Amino acid sequence: MNNEIITQRLEQELDRLKEKNNIYLGYPLAKDFRYSDLAPFLNLQINNVGDPYIPSSLAIDTKEIEKEVITFFSNLLRAPKDSTWGYVTNGGSEGNLYGLYLARESFPQGMVYYSESTHYSVKKNLHLLNIPNIVIRSQENGEMDYEDLENTLFSHRHQPAIFFLNIGTTMKEAIDDVLKIHWIIKKMAIKDYYIHCDAALLGIIAPFHNVRPAFDFKDGIDSISISGHKFIGAPIPCGIVLCKKDHKERIGRAISYVDTKDTTITGSRNGFTPLLLWYALKKMGITGLRKRVQESIELADYALGKIQGIGVKAWKIQMQ
Ligand SMILES: *Cc1c(COP(=O)(O)O)cnc(C)c1O
Repeated sequence: MNNEIITQRLEQELDRLKEKNNIYLGYPLAKDFRYSDLAPFLNLQINNVGDPYIPSSLAIDTKEIEKEVITFFSNLLRAPKDSTWGYVTNGGSEGNLYGLYLARESFPQGMVYYSESTHYSVKKNLHLLNIPNIVIRSQENGEMDYEDLENTLFSHRHQPAIFFLNIGTTMKEAIDDVLKIHWIIKKMAIKDYYIHCDAALLGIIAPFHNVRPAFDFKDGIDSISISGHKFIGAPIPCGIVLCKKDHKERIGRAISYVDTKDTTITGSRNGFTPLLLWYALKKMGITGLRKRVQESIELADYALGKIQGIGVKAWKIQMQ
């Protein structure tokens, strides 16, 4: 193709994307970002191959930046400094796959429990990992039905239990209560268990709720996955997964020719998305994020009023 045709085609595509970006509504994807400062990085090979905490001899990576992003989320999710590990993923689904992978490596005989409101990708991940699993009923608000969970657990209580919990379901933003899960574990005297949180949607938002829900490391979880392109916003899907270091240490062989460890799902990893997240988080800071959450809640109230005002049936969850 000659250059003129290439330029024309790109302009067409850019115009189409701009128009579509302007008019989409109702998807949990922020679009109020500008990452043009990072454009020079697009002309470089960047590859965060392997474990972010083990520098590769390749050295064309942004692992230092990636670690800062992980530290930011560790602090936000009250994770103990020296015993937490994580990496920047290609999105929430990968982080969920990773959490289930770690759970299975810890408890190969485990059974996974998750509610019927769980994201569609989880069923596929369970199939990929070949882990036995049981779907638990949801309450009307989308939260797990704890009574159904208890009844189901009763007949499997001698088997390790892997809880796959929702911290914001896709449709109703429902939150499964980690403290209630712990209470049930205790009541059933379940010895071996693992708790993973799918916080793709609310991982960055819930820490700023007035009444903070129980869902983080301090509340006793083993791993958590969050999407980066949703609340923060990014032109490339991305996310974060965090876990207790012990779980990670069960997996991961050494890769001799790049001197790092294969502790992640993919081999070569995106080195550009850590820059996107780092940039957004540094620009906003904790104060900016808190304000962003508050403004989003106000905007949702406003939108609900306007939409109902024109006679369209609409609803929103009541946040505390
Ligand atoms: C979006 C979403 C996912 C999947 O995350 P991706 O970033 O699209 O891979 C998983 N669970 C929930 C609840 C989600 O909202």
